[in-house]
Amino acid sequence: TQKEPTDLNELADEYLRLAYHGLRAKDKTFNAQLVTDFDAAVGKVTVFGQDIGRVLLNLYTNAFYATQQKQKQTANPEQYRPTVWVHTKRLGPNDIEICIRDNGTGIPNEVIDKIFQPFFTTKPTGQGTGLGLSLSYEIISKGHGGSLLVETEDNSFTQFIIRLPV
Ligand code: ADP
Ligand code: MG
Repeated sequence: TQKEPTDLNELADEYLRLAYHGLRAKDKTFNAQLVTDFDAAVGKVTVFGQDIGRVLLNLYTNAFYATQQKQKQTANPEQYRPTVWVHTKRLGPNDIEICIRDNGTGIPNEVIDKIFQPFFTTKPTGQGTGLGLSLSYEIISKGHGGSLLVETEDNSFTQFIIRLPV
């Protein structure tokens, strides 16, 4: 396959809704706030669109899962509002960024070094393969020469930042 001109804002929005509705189909009581901020200057970029779609779907699925878990752990679940943010930004003529943030469980220190390893998962058997982030890392770094970074605070938030040369 070849890289193709892809509207990353459209892709990021579409997969956000796909991931959210996928989760809601299994858990009708789950409600999240979706916050988007798309930079029109990102526009169409030449990428492996399907691969980037898989990365986004995985990051969103992880994000919603983390908020769902946090809601279950919270003493007053009605006072916690699961929220997933996505924003895109043109950093320069040849660089764009996509950030996906959630206010879920966060990633504990003892786990953070392992999350990009294939088959590493903290999810119960059957709920996670542990392949999502390792595959995402491959797609972003080897497939596109970009970077995939994580910022997190335990029990507070997690943010994944995709930077792509375009
Ligand atoms: P899987 O989703 O199948 O567990 P991934 O490779 O997508 O595999 O993620 C690996 C692990 O990284 C997860 O099991 C979880 O412990 C952690 N993780 C990833 N994203 C998040 C997130 N947004 N919030 C909290 N933990 C996360
Ligand atoms: Mg995953």
